[in-house]
Amino acid sequence: MVARLGLGSIAPAVVAFGACTDPDLGPGPQEPAELVITPVDGARLCAGTERWAAIEIERVEAETGLVPAVSLPISLGQAAVDERCVIPGDTATVLGCTLDDHGSLHVFTTPDALSHELVHGLRRSYELETRAMFEEGFAEAIDGSDAYPRYVALDPAEVSEASWPEALVQQDYVEFRSEERYRVATHFVAFLQAEHGPEAVASFMTGGIDGSAEAALIRFETSFGTTLAERAQAWRDAGEQGFGRGDPCSEGITPIPPDEAVELVVEVDCDDPDTLGLQGVDELAWVRRCVSTAAGVHTVALDTASGRVRWDSVPGTCAEGSSELDAAPKRVEAGVEGVLELAACTWAVTFESTEDQPERFVLALGPG
Ligand SMILES: [Zn+2]
Repeated sequence: MVARLGLGSIAPAVVAFGACTDPDLGPGPQEPAELVITPVDGARLCAGTERWAAIEIERVEAETGLVPAVSLPISLGQAAVDERCVIPGDTATVLGCTLDDHGSLHVFTTPDALSHELVHGLRRSYELETRAMFEEGFAEAIDGSDAYPRYVALDPAEVSEASWPEALVQQDYVEFRSEERYRVATHFVAFLQAEHGPEAVASFMTGGIDGSAEAALIRFETSFGTTLAERAQAWRDAGEQGFGRGDPCSEGITPIPPDEAVELVVEVDCDDPDTLGLQGVDELAWVRRCVSTAAGVHTVALDTASGRVRWDSVPGTCAEGSSELDAAPKRVEAGVEGVLELAACTWAVTFESTEDQPERFVLALGPG
């Protein structure tokens, strides 16, 4: 299963580009084009998401160097993605897509993939297009915030030659579309950003329209002063890298003493600025708290109407030698009383509600 995949350019609109055309980026729209986020029918954006989305839009515009050239409607919510982005018979988990909807662009996305899809939407509003590897790697490298952090671990030594950047640049979307290839593209673009600066990468991305791999390779060499093959080798030589953006625990971490019973009481209330996501028609509203735990067995009981609590260890925080199983994500459902085997980590604990009204969670933890 592919964990996340933006469909990006497999949209129905197929535009025939010349070999290497200069896109018309200036002087820009006479009046700023509209970028409007609307929740799917029957749902509403929670207060935290309204605030977060406004910040993300500004950040993505700054990092891509693009403001919308045409009106860009964005439908937010899982139901919008399920209706418009999912290809029948394709089992990949799709989080968003940017489509040409009867001649005008439209973004359909979960909040999780909003920033990634915004990159596609902004680029397509200028009809910018290069190879799938760069489109997806760039969108992935810009994605990631404290609300929806991204972490992609990859060791180039374990990547097969068919997924090296030299091979990926030759691939169209159909060939490119695999989890490993997305990860390579993300890491390679992040490597270029680290080596040449984010501005150089943004400028390469807006610097032309590539109708073929050859055109992209020529533009790459002009932009970065070296060949893609040379950069790809340097990326492999750099060894194992962790790509990460966003800190899920930027609001603070509560230590859970190993011998004490504690209760985490959380109200998921869509009107509260601490609550993100959407409310209504089975969309997910959520609040996150961070805790650190000692290794071992903890008793757990969750008292709430229907929600659940997700435990995700924060990459890089688990004690050395932690069991992989104990550091793996956990779920606690409403009404559950049981035990959790936890590694000594910092955990992002997310309280998820699909209720149509505020939901109160009492999560009781104790020594096992
Ligand atoms: Zn994408």
